[in-house]
Amino acid sequence: MSAQIIDGKAIAAQLRQDIRGRVEARLANGLRAPGLAVILVGENPASQVYVGSKRKGCEECGILSLSHDLPAETTQQALLALIDELNADPTVDGILVQLPLPAHIEVETVIERIHPDKDVDGFHPYNIGRLTLQMPTLRPCTPRGSMTLLQSTGVELKGLDAVIVGASNIVGRPMALELLMAGCTVTVCHSKTRDLQQKLAQADLVVAAVGRPEMIKGEWLKTGAIVIDVGINRLESGKLVGDVEFASASQVAGWITPVPGGVGPMTVATLLQNTVDAAERHDHA
Ligand code: NDP
Repeated sequence: MSAQIIDGKAIAAQLRQDIRGRVEARLANGLRAPGLAVILVGENPASQVYVGSKRKGCEECGILSLSHDLPAETTQQALLALIDELNADPTVDGILVQLPLPAHIEVETVIERIHPDKDVDGFHPYNIGRLTLQMPTLRPCTPRGSMTLLQSTGVELKGLDAVIVGASNIVGRPMALELLMAGCTVTVCHSKTRDLQQKLAQADLVVAAVGRPEMIKGEWLKTGAIVIDVGINRLESGKLVGDVEFASASQVAGWITPVPGGVGPMTVATLLQNTVDAAERHDHA
């Protein structure tokens, strides 16, 4: 294997330690612990796992986690009323609504109801707009966490040709804005893209966020490329794999994130980082 591994688990642990330090400094200065309200609607098992690790992360960092577990039949009106309540609560710095929501609830309406200053997922149009205009405040967690991983390599990103595979609102698109801001020349590929392999062959940096197990093969990559694999796919055997075929890609790439243990832990740690950022901003508001 030639690629160096970008150890997301270790980098996330370091980030959580830094966050804990910032929380302790607040308490030492007589300020309250940051508060994160986590709303889960229904009983989606994957969502329960994600929410569980977010709550555990809060505990580890000294962030107060406020759980709101609502039944699947909760009305949109009731959910919006809860968000209004949390928007007005001065002890709540961040509000997270775990996605996906049940089909009868409109995701966009819910996201837009969260006050932008408390939108620690960074999905509100205001926060996406600020990122687009190169004046970010709260940034989407997975792309921001991926940037932290890229920075950990020490590789100069300015001028690199970056290809993102996947153009969703929560990963691909904000990742494109992050990389553009970092000085990369960015190509965003999606399901209608023609000749994906030809685009990947030119890429110094690849971000895979598709949701198709091991779709991207090592032979498609440029020698020495940096590979950030956002994909999390569970095979029938129960094994977790990314969107990149790790065995072949790690022979060709210069740097690569593993799955599990790459981007996943960074997403949770970055949510905690956004919550402390929001709390510090609220102190000065
Ligand atoms: P979405 O399903 O919302 O988006 C998938 C994107 O991939 C779409 O833009 C789609 O194109 C594109 N796509 C689909 N098929 C192809 C193809 N054959 N070639 C090129 N592009 C294609 O997924 P998400 O962005 O929410 O998630 C992507 C993956 O990342 C999933 O595995 C998910 O589990 C994982 N994930 C991991 C996180 C982490 O913390 N590590 C956090 C969030 C997600 P089009 O727009 O044309 O439909």
